Amino acid sequence: MKGTVLYGPSDIRFEDLETPKIIEPTDAVLRLAATCVCGSDLWPYRGLQPIGGPTPMGHEYCGFVEEVGSAVKSVKPGQFVVGSFATSDNTCAHCQYGYQSSCIHREFMFRAQAPFLRVPQADGTLVPTAGGSPSDDLVPSLLACSDVLGTGWFAADAANVMPGGTVVVVGDGAVGLLGVLSAKQMGAERIIAMSRHDTRQKLAREFGATDIVAERGDEAVARIKDMTKGIGADSVLECVGTQESMMQAIGATRPGGYVGYVGVPHGVEFKGEELFYRHVHLHGGPAPVRRFLPKLIDLVLNGTINPGKVFDLTLPLDQVAEGYRAMDERRAIKTLLRP
Ligand SMILES: [Zn+2]
Repeated sequence: MKGTVLYGPSDIRFEDLETPKIIEPTDAVLRLAATCVCGSDLWPYRGLQPIGGPTPMGHEYCGFVEEVGSAVKSVKPGQFVVGSFATSDNTCAHCQYGYQSSCIHREFMFRAQAPFLRVPQADGTLVPTAGGSPSDDLVPSLLACSDVLGTGWFAADAANVMPGGTVVVVGDGAVGLLGVLSAKQMGAERIIAMSRHDTRQKLAREFGATDIVAERGDEAVARIKDMTKGIGADSVLECVGTQESMMQAIGATRPGGYVGYVGVPHGVEFKGEELFYRHVHLHGGPAPVRRFLPKLIDLVLNGTINPGKVFDLTLPLDQVAEGYRAMDERRAIKTLLRP
């Protein structure tokens, strides 16, 4: 099998890798229907996050169960499944509280930008689609559930989005755009998307944004304050992970409001005293996608949502290097890869 390996900045190779097989009795091996490039893959791709040598890439996946280990009970060969980027037993205390991405058996997935994938903790990690194999046109939206939608949904959940509430979304990448979709599904009345890119603004509006703000930093905070009678937003979704985006998110939140942050922080620092006087709830982290998967899969299968629209570039898997380049150069919002 050939798969995707990052060798260093801007150096993606599609090369021979060992075909995955069952190692633990709790494993499954999947034949992937689709995989994709994540915004978080761009951090090491750009050399902003060190890697310890050649690293197989990819953590978003859906597809058909090829083989299961002897202890696996809830998924069977032939089923179509979606799994999270973090594995979970779905039974430990953290899982029971809904924080499967802090499972005591958590492993962060990688190697998914490949035709086959080994998934540990298959029973707790994978969710089969109801009603058999989905039609092929639903595959992009089901793939989105694996991370990008699940993460946008968690941002909205962590930001305590309520029916009738005012929401700000910082970040117009795929997660931010699906944060808009998630806030809309949760009944937000006003959704302000921060974006200065025409195609992303359009998609944000399609997903439910009522307003667009192009300013950044202090100017952006001032605009949000203007738009909310000087109060600030009830819920702010931080979907970038830089110091500027985090301070923008905190600044846009009203006292007593909530910031849900899912952008992987790079160089973000807080001053305790400054935070103290802000009066905001901060909740974030790697999204417990597994908590939301059954609901999100349902919403896709019954046609309520179409999160697959964030994929504006589809390539054969062997052209994965171009998929990274297109996202790095912001020619594509998100690249879908077909094995
Ligand atoms: Zn667990």
